Amino acid sequence: MEQKTIGRFAPSPSGRLHLGNLFCSLLAWLSAKSKGGEILLRIEDLDRERSRPEYAEQAEQDLAFLGLTWDEGGRAGGPGYFQANRGEYYEELLAQLAERELLYPCFCSRAELHAANAPHASDGEAVYSGKCRKLSAAEVKELSERRSPALRLKVPKETICFPDGHYGKISQNLERDCGDFILRRSDGAFAYQLAVVADDAAMGVTEVVRGRDLLSSTPRQIYLYRLFGFPVPEFAHTPLLLGPDGRRLSKRDRDISLDALREKGLSGEDITGRLAFLAGLLDRPEAAAPKELIPLFSWDKVPKEDIRLSPEAGF
Ligand code: GLU
Repeated sequence: MEQKTIGRFAPSPSGRLHLGNLFCSLLAWLSAKSKGGEILLRIEDLDRERSRPEYAEQAEQDLAFLGLTWDEGGRAGGPGYFQANRGEYYEELLAQLAERELLYPCFCSRAELHAANAPHASDGEAVYSGKCRKLSAAEVKELSERRSPALRLKVPKETICFPDGHYGKISQNLERDCGDFILRRSDGAFAYQLAVVADDAAMGVTEVVRGRDLLSSTPRQIYLYRLFGFPVPEFAHTPLLLGPDGRRLSKRDRDISLDALREKGLSGEDITGRLAFLAGLLDRPEAAAPKELIPLFSWDKVPKEDIRLSPEAGF
């Protein structure tokens, strides 16, 4: 029997969802539903300082306003769908890696990490030099008395290849393009890379659809799936939406927020229809409910380049 498709929405409640987040959510929903699958909603509130419960609530309302329903999770699914409550599980996974001697403490300061001559990884972050990997036990002991360390995962000289459902074959050399990466920050917070893999695996997610900005994180995540022996889901990344000025949308762009569009009198279907037009699924930016778009969905129609909002699209 074929496995049922389980997709997901994974918003970070650090602000209101912007049109780009909603564009990506629409494609995640269509991709799962066009295969007869389901969607779960997980709240990625690992960053305790920036996350607010009211944004999680608002994210649900915004998705629901657009008709982007979920079959499992969210507030109705209980505390287990909020990453802030899943620390014990992440802790267990870290303990497994520590047992296998794959982790080491890193005491480097932000300034050291961003040294001007550090080579840059595919995501723009500096590739870690590996400095703390070489510390002796005595050095670790001494440094630990002064600072609490982050925990890094040792990566091998291995190239990870995977077929992205939209961008095709992607490959990344872990050592050269990424370097040893952080799984727990020095302030004790679990890293996104660990939590997202842990949860997508535990929740049975079979396909991950998200913005192209996370494409370069995917090889790291696949490496983690393999280390833990978890089945690797399929991945498809979406182009990003850009403002009329060509900049990436952010949670601060209020003039094209859902509220501003609603105040102009647009309905949920007006907005999903316009997003579907931007995605190449409709010839005109006419109103269309997500359900009506299911038969029209195909990754072949979706542009690869990032998409600029324009009056032609009605945004
Ligand atoms: N929580 C992330 C965000 O809101 C998405 C992570 C993911 O889809 O893997 O940007």
